[in-house]
Amino acid sequence: MIIPKCNRFSISGRSITPHLETFIIGQTSTQRAAPAVWLRPERSNLAHRETLEFHKAITFWYKQLSFFLSRALSVKTIFFFYFCVVFSFSHCCLANADNEHNSRLDKAAFLFNQGKLKNAIAEYRKLEQLMTVPKEPILNLALIYKNLRQYKKSILEYKKLLAIAPDKIVYANLGEVYYLNAMPDLAIDAFNTALKMGDKGEMLYFWLAKCYEDKGDWQNAVLHYKRALGINDEMVLSLQGLGNLYVQKKMWAQAETELKKIKKLDPSMLFVYPALALAYFSQAKYDLSLKAFRHIRAYDPQNKEAVKYIDKIYQLAGKDFKSKLLKKEKSRIADSHAKKLSSKVISGAPLVRVCIGRAKKLRFKCASDFHIYPVGKSSKVLFSGNADTLCKVCLNNGKLMLSLQQRIIKQLPLKIIIAPQSSILIFGIELGNGQYWANKIDRIYRGKIEIMPDKNGEFKIINIVNLEEYLYSVLPSEMPSSWPMDALKAQAVAARSEAYVKFGRHKKEGFDFCSGVHCQSYGGANVESKDSCSAVDTTQGEIAVYQGMPIDAVYSNSCGGHTQGNIFAKCDNIPYLQGKQDTVAKTGYSFPLAPFALEDWLWGNNLSINCDNREFSRQSNFRWTRLYKRKELEKLINKKLSVRGLIAINILERDKSSHIKSIEIVDINGRFIVKKELVIRRMLGNLRSSMFNIDVKLDKNGHAEEFLFYGGGWGHGVGMCQVGAATMAQKGYSYSDILKFYYTDIDLKKMY
Ligand SMILES: [Zn+2]
Ligand SMILES: [Zn+2]
Repeated sequence: MIIPKCNRFSISGRSITPHLETFIIGQTSTQRAAPAVWLRPERSNLAHRETLEFHKAITFWYKQLSFFLSRALSVKTIFFFYFCVVFSFSHCCLANADNEHNSRLDKAAFLFNQGKLKNAIAEYRKLEQLMTVPKEPILNLALIYKNLRQYKKSILEYKKLLAIAPDKIVYANLGEVYYLNAMPDLAIDAFNTALKMGDKGEMLYFWLAKCYEDKGDWQNAVLHYKRALGINDEMVLSLQGLGNLYVQKKMWAQAETELKKIKKLDPSMLFVYPALALAYFSQAKYDLSLKAFRHIRAYDPQNKEAVKYIDKIYQLAGKDFKSKLLKKEKSRIADSHAKKLSSKVISGAPLVRVCIGRAKKLRFKCASDFHIYPVGKSSKVLFSGNADTLCKVCLNNGKLMLSLQQRIIKQLPLKIIIAPQSSILIFGIELGNGQYWANKIDRIYRGKIEIMPDKNGEFKIINIVNLEEYLYSVLPSEMPSSWPMDALKAQAVAARSEAYVKFGRHKKEGFDFCSGVHCQSYGGANVESKDSCSAVDTTQGEIAVYQGMPIDAVYSNSCGGHTQGNIFAKCDNIPYLQGKQDTVAKTGYSFPLAPFALEDWLWGNNLSINCDNREFSRQSNFRWTRLYKRKELEKLINKKLSVRGLIAINILERDKSSHIKSIEIVDINGRFIVKKELVIRRMLGNLRSSMFNIDVKLDKNGHAEEFLFYGGGWGHGVGMCQVGAATMAQKGYSYSDILKFYYTDIDLKKMY
């Protein structure tokens, strides 16, 4: 919620004319009390204001001149004329001073986003001299010094603000910097002052809990985490703090409760899986523990701890445990069947080849009778099978063997096609490699399956379907089918357009698309639904075009409030991929954001933003946090680099939207520059997005101890924001309106 500033405070203490509107963002954050920030009008307002000023001056002088000429000169009129000159001159001077302040503030924000923090500091210092009551530059300085981990300087700036006027939010921010600088007692005092002044935000209790944890006061830490959760029971940071304290104390049942809540609220927090698996193991819940450790192996195949624990579980769980599992697996396979699906022949729809996995063996059942033939020779049938028969193709010593009901019956050529008349059920397909949702499950596919040799003694499993049938599965894999129909239709057109442009991107590997997020998620026919198929059917063959050419209609779950300009193609400027605020209303934010506005943006909620909608998205998809111990973060970074004694992660450059373009990882031996949003996110533990900021907690010796990442959005943020699209559809916008909002100057075209 944005409240016109004139209803709340005066920025500078001097008189502000009514048209000089400024805004203050109230404490609307669900996560923590936002700093008291003062935002200037958006650029468009500024330009309008200057024009208005000029127009007013001209009108004023025209009126005075007419008055002067129409009357005879007298002492009274001369005096009046003199008064008017002085009034108008002082009025214009004030406007000019404001214009100068605003342009300097803009310049400082720009420099800050370019990573030129010293220059930004110099600009704010100049403003501090120029402004009568310089709250805005001082607040920005305090936050830049926090980013630079120059906490003593940051503390001085906050003290300057408190000397201007005591403010509970400034006390809360001061407490945070004291805490980061390993001064928990001073931090507790500052937080308690903020509490006395009426700040009841959950972040205040969270920081107090962290201070008590720092002092080794376990009971008070637990108490304050619980107080924070009493205000907001979905506060992941406090659940993490509480869960970790219970793990440290080996209170496994309590730890399990808190960790399960985190898993539900933000399943992308990878630390939760090993902790939960261990909590199950320690309570002898072996089946749950085994499932949890297997999941860890699925997203992190190199994880040796998980293998160790899986072995331990088999040893400790008793003789029957393994045989029970095998029995369960056998009955699952016997009871699973492929579904009969009506296949549509759509004239003009191209066939696509999707790699759905790699394996050494493939177990399958078809919903109808099927044939196997060599690639390229459909008339040469090698084998004809019956519906619902369990079959297996297996690569053994370079030979592809076919088994039926566990009996080898035939050797096959290395490249074959399995062609059912209806669908095929494939057992144990691995999906989401490296992602938290990685899993091995049974999946049904339309079309045909091609087997093609790959490296490491494995073969590729390629599903061949027409584009519309491919979209039947992409759509519900990428967007919940329960979302409004126009959002589903916009998603269908975007996915079809992206497929058109990226067709054959894996050609060298022998297929068109992979089944992961690199291309578009494709989970087979299991996930198909009536509504998503209907959205594909009603937009059949329709794509988005720019100047007649299909567009690369990229999309992501949540842009975090401002979509990012193109970051993918070699050419930076793709006219239809322009970053913009994800709203048709006004937010009061002016991009690029100044340090204080960025802080407020990343911690706050803003219901005028399309993707800030709990109906379609978890809180953690819009605003998220990650808290790492230094060693934990080093371990993540060291999957790619070799870092020792991590000191800092500095942000070198941001897009106008606040998404980060490059960072610098500093350790005791030097620095690494890391570029590109996906590389940055993966290196730092699969962060939700590249729109974030970092707080570094130091220990008593001034060494980095903990890193808190706080950010916004899920995914790259370029093109269509899916949650935003759902909100627009909910408000009554058509799929065409939605697509034209997210992709600039496009048209829709039917290809078949
Ligand atoms: Zn791909
Ligand atoms: Zn969005």
